[in-house]
Amino acid sequence: MRNIKPPRRTKADGKAPILLAVEDTDGMLNAWCPFCASFHHHGKEEGMRTAHCDDPKSPFNQTGYLVKNGTTYLTRYLVESDKG
Ligand SMILES: [Zn+2]
Repeated sequence: MRNIKPPRRTKADGKAPILLAVEDTDGMLNAWCPFCASFHHHGKEEGMRTAHCDDPKSPFNQTGYLVKNGTTYLTRYLVESDKG
């Protein structure tokens, strides 16, 4: 098991789920939503967001979610995975 820590959650974030986002070329954060099976497009800032869910049954509609920029995290994961 590789030692990669998930993004930090602060006390203020409560129990909201974390949605990892990837940064596009403009620095905007795009988070993959497993309930809508699509990307939700957010601004450049991480933090709590109301859900952009199209699916009315998505649990995110109740909780919102915490958008985290996972670009560095994902890149590091891919690089370390590549080392075998
Ligand atoms: Zn959604």
